[in-house]
Amino acid sequence: MLPRIDGVIERVREYNPSSSERLLQKAYLFSAKAHKGQQRYNGEPYLVHPVAVADILAGLRADDIAIIAGLLHDVVEDNEDVSLDEIDRLFGKATAHIVDGVTKIDKHFPEKSRVEREWHAMRKVVLAMVDDVRVILVKLADRLHNLRTMDALPEHRRPVKALQTLEVYAPIAHRLGLGAMKSELEDLGFKYAYPDEFERLSRALKEKRSYSNSFAEETAGELKELLKELKTQGEIRWRIKHPYSIYVKLQRQGIGVEEVYDYMGFRIIVESVKDCYTVLGGIHGRLKPIPGRFRDFIALPKENHYRSLHTSVIGLHGHPFEIQIRTREMDEEAERGIAAHWRYKEGRMSSEDEARNTAWIRQLVEFKQDEASGGEFIHNLRVNLYPNEVYVFTPRGDVLSFPRGATPIDFAYSIHTDVGHHCIGAKINGKLETLKTVMKSGDRVEIITSANGKPSRDWLKIAVTNRALSKIRGWLNAREKARAIEIGRAALEKEFKRCKLNFKSLMKDGGLEEAMKRVSIQDMDSLQAAVGYGKISARNFAKRLQPQIEEEPPQTAKTRAEGAREPAVVVRGATDLLTTIAKCCKPIPGDEVIGFISRGRGLVIHRADCHSIRQASYNQDRFMEVEWAAPALPSADSEVHLLVVTEDKTGMVANITKIVADVKAPLRFINATVEKDEGNIRLDILVRDREHLNEVINKIAKIPGVKSLRRLNR
Ligand code: MN
Repeated sequence: MLPRIDGVIERVREYNPSSSERLLQKAYLFSAKAHKGQQRYNGEPYLVHPVAVADILAGLRADDIAIIAGLLHDVVEDNEDVSLDEIDRLFGKATAHIVDGVTKIDKHFPEKSRVEREWHAMRKVVLAMVDDVRVILVKLADRLHNLRTMDALPEHRRPVKALQTLEVYAPIAHRLGLGAMKSELEDLGFKYAYPDEFERLSRALKEKRSYSNSFAEETAGELKELLKELKTQGEIRWRIKHPYSIYVKLQRQGIGVEEVYDYMGFRIIVESVKDCYTVLGGIHGRLKPIPGRFRDFIALPKENHYRSLHTSVIGLHGHPFEIQIRTREMDEEAERGIAAHWRYKEGRMSSEDEARNTAWIRQLVEFKQDEASGGEFIHNLRVNLYPNEVYVFTPRGDVLSFPRGATPIDFAYSIHTDVGHHCIGAKINGKLETLKTVMKSGDRVEIITSANGKPSRDWLKIAVTNRALSKIRGWLNAREKARAIEIGRAALEKEFKRCKLNFKSLMKDGGLEEAMKRVSIQDMDSLQAAVGYGKISARNFAKRLQPQIEEEPPQTAKTRAEGAREPAVVVRGATDLLTTIAKCCKPIPGDEVIGFISRGRGLVIHRADCHSIRQASYNQDRFMEVEWAAPALPSADSEVHLLVVTEDKTGMVANITKIVADVKAPLRFINATVEKDEGNIRLDILVRDREHLNEVINKIAKIPGVKSLRRLNR
């Protein structure tokens, strides 16, 4: 039985009232005649294919010319008796141009291999697309149907088509904003280009399915409740992200499927742009957002005009997931892209912003002259298709891709972890460059390593790929642990000495082991690390080893009070180490600070501009980057010393004391002297943090008569 065209015609009429049924019928009959007797690999009549392509085009709301070209797209290729001239005569120039664009055989190069022909054909399509975007729509529809029925194709012919789909056609669909088309092309391309990986991933996702369903239902329920609270109309949808996007993520981050958690996506469709932001605010108020994952594509649409709000949050059971918030119109646009804007003028589709949409295609014209260089064409095409990626060459000429902004550090880690850990610079296009240099497409990059090279915390600001970032973090954490062990060992040794404990005999009689067991610690390294990280105090541990001798009451009131007085400091990117606030410069929360490892006292926190620490700057290895803990942590007020220089005027002290009282910075000490017509007022006050101090300083500086103001170290 031959497939029928009626369904397609009906579909077209719904969105294009001026469609010509007569012409569509004529093209259908012409195609049926040209493909008569031909079969597809699966034994179906060949006509099934062009009709299916026409149907996909109708789904994209294409105009008659595109649909007719879809019906005729294979006739010239598959039937020697049909010529482009005939198509031109019967269906017009535009149709003939599209059919020519998607016709694979080049009668002038019959001897080319099949693979060569595939790439040659692709290039032809892209070039023809420059003149008429409908060429690529027909090609995409053709490719989509071929992939949907690819099981019927001999196995050895699948990978080339599948790879081309992933590398060229899916990205083109993406650039045109055809979201639904792109996802389907990617998943099918993935399935046939990497069958083993596809199989493995699909199985893993299936295993997660039952959990996913219950999670999704619970979460959807919660979101529905939120909408009700916000008095906002909205529709909630969820899906498991499509397999190829998960696969790309796994590849990029170098992780296994069991480590992927946000494989589920939620979408909330609301009525207005205002509602989008209302819902976003509501979500962030209820669920903890993941930093760095919020994107406002409404204020700043993507290059393909995609608009939506994206955020990732921690949901039920600590499970992260992504939410997209958009209006109905934006949703329509995201699925249909360029097709969402087609208006029908005299039956021919035209897009209001077709010129904008296809500007990037026009850039390809430049390469049209250069028809001889096929490799370069593909290279330029890729650069245009993936605007957010850069392609660079290894010294051996292999091409590696990176996100825009990537540096030689990313390059080094993509080669090997050890190359990354030891890289110190790079030669880019033969010229020596620093690790900070941002790579550009076409760069030839060679990494320079040194046995002494090692990662630094700054690299976390320079690298952009997740792979490099996680390797650098891993290395820094390992080093931090080594330092914690060193700090812990020193603290324990000091405490043992003070308590006159004999380490060796405690080892022998098992006293040490038993004490460790009681605090659930396995070995000496872990004990030292725990002390170094401040999880166990050396003093308390030593006490466990000498239970009878109660030297002083466990934790005197004084030590507790002092402990509480110290504001919390965290070592960047790691657990807290045992920290002390330096006495020489007395930093307060908000000050720029740096940690210095002192034997015995752990990590001492100094102000970054502290003089005493500058003298120790030869010892770079003992410095650590630190920052203040989140302000939510309660910490006692810190004392700061200020020197205010004023004109010799009465009432200055009174004005200053009034201000410190107003801003609630308790005054601890004040002393005023007059010298050479200048008043020197020294005051010690308690402040919460740097912000609080700035408030005090700003207000005092505004008092008429105040000439200068300085913070003193002591
Ligand atoms: Mn075809």
